Amino acid sequence: MTPFGRRLFLSALGAGVAAPVTTHAQRAADPPNNPDVAIIGAGVAGVTAARALMATGKCVLVIEARDRIGGRTFTDPTTFGFAFDHGAQWIEAGKTNPAMAIVREAAAKASLDRSEQAIFLAGKELSKEDYARFEKIAQNATRKIEEVLKKLPDFVVGKLLVPQDPLERLAYAMMGPLEQGVENGELSARDFTRQPEAEPQYSVAEGMGAMIARWGAKVPVKLGARVVRVDSTGTQVMVETTAGQIRASAAIVTLPTGVLATGKIGFSPQLSAAKRDAIAQLPMASFNKVALLFSRQVIDAPAGRNVTGLTRKDLAFDSIVRPANREAALVFVGGALARALEDEGGRAAVTFAVSALAEIYGNDLRGAVAKSHATQWGKDPYATGSWSVARPGHADKRLVVAEPHHDRVFFAGEATDPVWATRVGGAYASGLRAAKEALAVPALQRR
Ligand SMILES: Cc1cc2nc3c(=O)[nH]c(=O)nc-3n(C[C@H](O)[C@H](O)[C@H](O)COP(=O)(O)OP(=O)(O)OC[C@H]3O[C@@H](n4cnc5c(N)ncnc54)[C@H](O)[C@@H]3O)c2cc1C
Repeated sequence: MTPFGRRLFLSALGAGVAAPVTTHAQRAADPPNNPDVAIIGAGVAGVTAARALMATGKCVLVIEARDRIGGRTFTDPTTFGFAFDHGAQWIEAGKTNPAMAIVREAAAKASLDRSEQAIFLAGKELSKEDYARFEKIAQNATRKIEEVLKKLPDFVVGKLLVPQDPLERLAYAMMGPLEQGVENGELSARDFTRQPEAEPQYSVAEGMGAMIARWGAKVPVKLGARVVRVDSTGTQVMVETTAGQIRASAAIVTLPTGVLATGKIGFSPQLSAAKRDAIAQLPMASFNKVALLFSRQVIDAPAGRNVTGLTRKDLAFDSIVRPANREAALVFVGGALARALEDEGGRAAVTFAVSALAEIYGNDLRGAVAKSHATQWGKDPYATGSWSVARPGHADKRLVVAEPHHDRVFFAGEATDPVWATRVGGAYASGLRAAKEALAVPALQRR
């Protein structure tokens, strides 16, 4: 079992999605000024929509604020001697996850994740009995949530699951902060149970971000252009960016809900009150990664082991030690701890990660850190967090964010998918859906 996968829970719900034909008539180097469809954001949703529209012969332009494509997928292939994905890394529920279509289209090879999980409390590994108890706690927690959901439309997970001891604290932390990026006190039971089971879980050796960059390389993208306004009051949609205006018959907006909620992108006419409220009810979760490279062997564990625990200060973390057989580690933090470490800034997250591992593998490790990097997705102005989470009582708002605006402006992005939200698979499925919606615009059918 590995991080970012809903373990031990529920059966898969999603259905496979047909892969678009990839006949790219356009060249990435030659972006059109007046495309049929302007797509805002070159993450997985934007690239998917672009590829699907290009496959039907439509002319598209993706407008991206960063100087790269991929959005919340990004691989650093060199610094640590293994592919370090700052964002998405795994494809969970691989039998039904729409993201497996990307693997096929990119002709990548997905490997099944078989890493074993070791659990530690205050530096000490669980006894055999405690492992069995831990498993039971997790299973009972899921069952209890499902039982209550039969009677209530939704509730706050933290009100039902109140930990009585460290083992329960860790088991529940693995559902909320380490899994969803929010504390259980903010977690919607309905939004949580919507998600398909994590297993089987896959990854690609080149890194998810590298695969997405390769797969999206032929899509025409205007990089370094931040969208500030989308005006659909005229006959065409006018997209105003920091690098000029683009006019199109339709637009697809794929921005994270946290970015939309800042209000820095104006819409004419204004988004409906229902849509603005729905965006506000889907704030961004906090989940960050710390990569550590050691100058010598300091971790006595098999390559790729998933180590999860509560520190002596009762702080929950997840990690992969010795990834790709390197003297390295990836430490994951979520929820309030991730937010606090990001707010503290400097080396706070790295210090936490090193201390958490030193409690298990010994203090020798502290002096052996040769390289480190901590992600800060919350401070990233083009992400504002890791993924969308529904506030309790608002899981259905994903469909409201997905609704078209003014007939010619469509919405995609992980937050808008009713099943696969939060994940790459949700972004992919939403991109296909929005492309289909855009194709129904009369001006596009005439071409
Ligand atoms: C740390 C972390 C770990 C994760 N792990 C996993 C995992 O293992 N498996 C998984 O399935 N998912 C994972 N995810 C979630 C996954 O990365 C996202 O669900 C998915 O990448 C979202 O794609 P998207 O296209 O919806 O949004 P994005 O990738 O955010 O794309 C939106 C694009 O819009 C751009 N943009 C923003 N503002 C503007 C503007 N004003 N003008 C123009 N462009 C703009 C952004 O730069 C970005 O490129 C993880 C995320 C994080 C942060």
